[in-house]
Amino acid sequence: MADGSIDLVQQVRAHLESLSAAGVLFVPRGEVVVRAPLRVAANPVVVAPAPEPEPDPFETRLRELEVLRTEVAACNKCSELFATRLQTVFGSGPLEAEIAFIGDAPGSDEDAQGEPFVGKGGDLLGRIIGACGYTHDRVYLFNAIKCRPPKNRTPTNAECANCRDFFRRQFDAVRPKHIFALGEFVSRLLTGQNATLTELRGKVHQYRGVPLICTHHPNDIEKDKTGRLKRETGFDMKLLLDTIGRAAPEAK
Ligand code: SF4
Repeated sequence: MADGSIDLVQQVRAHLESLSAAGVLFVPRGEVVVRAPLRVAANPVVVAPAPEPEPDPFETRLRELEVLRTEVAACNKCSELFATRLQTVFGSGPLEAEIAFIGDAPGSDEDAQGEPFVGKGGDLLGRIIGACGYTHDRVYLFNAIKCRPPKNRTPTNAECANCRDFFRRQFDAVRPKHIFALGEFVSRLLTGQNATLTELRGKVHQYRGVPLICTHHPNDIEKDKTGRLKRETGFDMKLLLDTIGRAAPEAK
């Protein structure tokens, strides 16, 4: 007999015996009501709530960039740049861009428009991007320093140190696959080498595990009337494309 049945018979018997002891000798049919005890399983099955879905890493990084953009826009760590800038210049492009084009700091056109690489230098960079076989929406453009130094002077060591964390967080969120460093200043900053651009060009360096190639800044190429910087930039583009594994552009 199952356990539940034994319990029920024992309870009925005990109930009848207590009635008998009280002098009740007859019980009409249907009068005896014994409720079965509520049984709790020895090992109850606990149903865990459904786990929260994992956050989309792409969305997380896009959100990080928006948070960072807001922090940069409110930043006043460099008092002189804060006092003289029209606005901060954050950068633009897709996550995991094939190439990040990185300059030093915004100039007057960038300061006015809030976008990196605009004006004549920006037009030339657009042609370089096109000659590499890319469009603007497939590359990431930004500067190491987010505010224009007055009269386009070189950023100070303190300003570089102040902005370094913003740059690293932005770089880590974007995670570009290759870097084209534009100009001596940012080439030195990213390679960590106290060397001239001539010494830094022609090699594949690394920045945070990403291949890095150094070349001239478009503004310097624009100003150079000899054509030397343009030719050298062509060599650097070939090295970049070889590193990516793409065919070099036709020479013009
Ligand atoms: S350069 Fe960078 S650290 Fe300095 S005020 Fe601008 S955003 Fe802030």
